[in-house]
Amino acid sequence: MIIIGSGPAGYTAAVYSARAELKPLVFEGSVTAGGALMNTTDVENFPGFPDGIMGPDLMDNLRKQAERFGAELVADDVVEVDLEANPKVVKTHSETYYAKSVILAMGSGYRELGLDNEKRLSGHGVSWCATCDGFFFRNKDIVVVGGGDTAMEEATFLTRFGRMVTVVHRRDTLRASKIMQDRAFANEKIRFVWDSEVVDVLGDGKVEAVKLRNLKSGEECELATDALFIAIGHDPRTDLVKGQIDLDENGYIKVASPTTATNIPGVFAAGDVVDHTYRQAITAAGTGCAASLDSERWLAENE
Ligand code: FAD
Repeated sequence: MIIIGSGPAGYTAAVYSARAELKPLVFEGSVTAGGALMNTTDVENFPGFPDGIMGPDLMDNLRKQAERFGAELVADDVVEVDLEANPKVVKTHSETYYAKSVILAMGSGYRELGLDNEKRLSGHGVSWCATCDGFFFRNKDIVVVGGGDTAMEEATFLTRFGRMVTVVHRRDTLRASKIMQDRAFANEKIRFVWDSEVVDVLGDGKVEAVKLRNLKSGEECELATDALFIAIGHDPRTDLVKGQIDLDENGYIKVASPTTATNIPGVFAAGDVVDHTYRQAITAAGTGCAASLDSERWLAENE
């Protein structure tokens, strides 16, 4: 069995598959082994850690747990696959591997603003996930960037915690659906800064302000804030399987829910590469477990 991806979905699939004696080979990626949680600090909502755990520590634990049961980890990128072939073919730049079953767990990338200080302050006030980090900003000022449904949903959710939520949007109208707009406009804790973009994030150890530029006048100003939530979309990492695996209109892998089976027999998918609804570490781990069990059963029936 081959598992592509090293986030909570990939490593959880590896733990289950290794304990089922399937000898999984896990491709972790050459740069970002450990997945999205490597870019954050405290994770307070992964069950089993009453005092929270740092994202990189959680991923290190998961990695060790997979290794302990015999999963083989390869710190390399998969660059090509032939999933219809028998056995299935998985290639890195230097090697070719074969497997009877493949689990796809490549995750999705949150779109970034592309600012140097955004990366530096990630986990220190810069966030891409209100469900994950909203709790840290009780009675604080929060800025949300974006104008779509996700941005309105995040902004509305964040008013449970924040003193004031300021939505910064590049245009003077929102892309969000009418119902989401109405909800945001009716919320007295949300205000809007139109026609503007965030051009810098300021602060030493944590976010203290954002620098805004008005796209019509060119004027720049600073807005004091404790947090910056970026809600401008995310992209599933599915280039590798495009043309082989059925994807939905947003590029996420389609599975035969509630199973993790894709359109190709013996190929299963788990985590954020499938899920644009929940996007949590625990849901990724949960579907990683399901993908391993689905794969194990498929292998038993097709040996
Ligand atoms: P990912 O974690 O994205 O992992 C996929 C991995 O596969 C990556 O390392 C990637 O490089 C690798 N990969 C991709 N393609 C290839 C390839 N071709 N070859 C080899 N490797 C490949 N969730 C929570 O529940 N709680 C939180 O507090 C929380 N905080 C977050 C903070 C931040 C800053 C971010 C960005 C996300 C946060 N999340 C949180 C969301 C959570 O991290 C994701 O839902 C979860 O990591 C998804 O897991 P995954 O296994 O599907 O994918």
